[in-house]
Amino acid sequence: MSAAKRTLVIRNGILIDGSGKPSSRNDAIVIEGNRIKSVGALPPDLHVEDRNNVEAIDTAGKWVMPGLIDAHCHMSYGYPLIKGEGKGKGTTRPEFSTLKSARSAQKVLRAGVTSISVPGGTWFTDVGVRDAIRLGLMEGPRMFVAGRMIVTYGCIEDDEPSWEGTPDHSIGKLCNTADEMVTEVRRQGKHGVNFIKMADSRSGESQMLAKEEIAAVVGEAHRRNLKVAIHSRGAGSTRAAAEAGVDWIVHADLATDRDLDAVAKAGMPILPTATFLAVVVELGKQQKVGAEQVQLDFNRLGRHYELLGALMHKARKLGIRLLVGTDTGNNSFTRHGELHAKELEIFVKHGGYSPMEAIVAATRDNAMAVGLDGQVGEVKAGQFADITVWDKDPIADIAILQDLKNLAWVIKDGKIVDLDRPNEMLTFQQAAE
Ligand SMILES: [Zn+2]
Repeated sequence: MSAAKRTLVIRNGILIDGSGKPSSRNDAIVIEGNRIKSVGALPPDLHVEDRNNVEAIDTAGKWVMPGLIDAHCHMSYGYPLIKGEGKGKGTTRPEFSTLKSARSAQKVLRAGVTSISVPGGTWFTDVGVRDAIRLGLMEGPRMFVAGRMIVTYGCIEDDEPSWEGTPDHSIGKLCNTADEMVTEVRRQGKHGVNFIKMADSRSGESQMLAKEEIAAVVGEAHRRNLKVAIHSRGAGSTRAAAEAGVDWIVHADLATDRDLDAVAKAGMPILPTATFLAVVVELGKQQKVGAEQVQLDFNRLGRHYELLGALMHKARKLGIRLLVGTDTGNNSFTRHGELHAKELEIFVKHGGYSPMEAIVAATRDNAMAVGLDGQVGEVKAGQFADITVWDKDPIADIAILQDLKNLAWVIKDGKIVDLDRPNEMLTFQQAAE
């Protein structure tokens, strides 16, 4: 078994190292424990024939690259769509939510995604799943998680009448004053979140959070070493978020040139998340969404999708970095393990990115969204050993990353993930040692 061996060596592959350097043949990637020790020629003191201590994988004719990072992946939303499970507005039980999140985490890892950023979920479900993975109770990607989104009346995820507020099973948390927001930052920090998610209006037509409120959250969160991300489709909210100094802005599709100038000046990245809209547009064309639990305005979402393509081009001109995320898990039709590489194809088709640039965006540049800038996202000595191996060349066709038949190996934290084990067979203790 690989777990007993000290050293793992990946031989002979074509390396796409995540830095943007052209792909090239590579002799050996040496992994010790959960870190990459060297990349290049096989070190002379390493004896691959020493089968007791060294495990070697031959990847001749295959492409080796960093594990993908999905900077926008929800794990504990409702919409279970599981036969026999109640179909309220969401999952109304933390216990069920936790098991579902854990199961989904294993599917995500088996899609070649070794880190995810989770901008919102129910209760502190994702904190628990993150820690179970970190402590070796189960397999899964590295997780960097927010709690419930901070919202005011009328924001996205404030779906109930005022006399109900945001119930405990909601992914929103009503805070109608800056003081309430600061208290919620403190509460979530106490329960172990990595970052705070704020959320403005659903589609950006009006600004629901004042700049001073965002700044209050940023001040408190940063003092506690937490990052801040914001759902902001609108113009005013995007500019306010930029000026208040959030760490990254999610969507920003209605931002004007002036707003984007403010983002460029402040220097934070934008996470456009076009995949969700692309899926909705496709479902709309197929008229399939009637079977789903949510009501969607296809025309509006189609317009937003177009706007995001334009945003990608503008951002590049202004030097705004884009993060790569999909909104997997935000609905019953954005299933875990299926969509994580779709955003790369959209970056190439609609954003003017080359396949190599899209890969760098989804690996090295995405590391900041999981709090591991410079530690994951590249196949480079010293980084965590999160690596994927593919049978086809993603530089020739970026879409091959979406077909898991092409995925030959996933290595996370220096351990080989057993891809032959079907998801249905997974248990929650296989990674325990
Ligand atoms: Zn989302």
